[in-house]
Amino acid sequence: METEYCYEEGAIAGPPDEIMGLFDAPLTKEKWDRGERIGCNNIRCSDCGKTVRAFPNARWKSNFSHHDIPELYEQKDLGEYLQTENLTYATHAYICGCHVRNIGGTMLMRELQMDDLRWTWGCGGH
Ligand SMILES: [Zn+2]
Ligand SMILES: [Zn+2]
Repeated sequence: METEYCYEEGAIAGPPDEIMGLFDAPLTKEKWDRGERIGCNNIRCSDCGKTVRAFPNARWKSNFSHHDIPELYEQKDLGEYLQTENLTYATHAYICGCHVRNIGGTMLMRELQMDDLRWTWGCGGH
């Protein structure tokens, strides 16, 4: 099967929106225009080449430094770095080999790429 990519590099989900299931079809313009706010489940970072890992309803704590991120990415259990209870703002937490982010609302990554020069995440295909 041919690889398909999400519309506008896909959406990155923040609560209450969910990240799509593993076997779901990619986001299309039609779905987005219909109001389907579903995050891409195969986000790739063009800087480090890693697939972005997602932690729904969590927020990164500040108990690590930017230099730790490549090593954190490889760790299986990131529980000690993630706050999941008593969140002041609901977010989904994301990590690639070079960035961590807390996302509070669902947005198209193409728009984020245009707004933020450091935004290197986009749909990696389905
Ligand atoms: Zn990266
Ligand atoms: Zn996608």
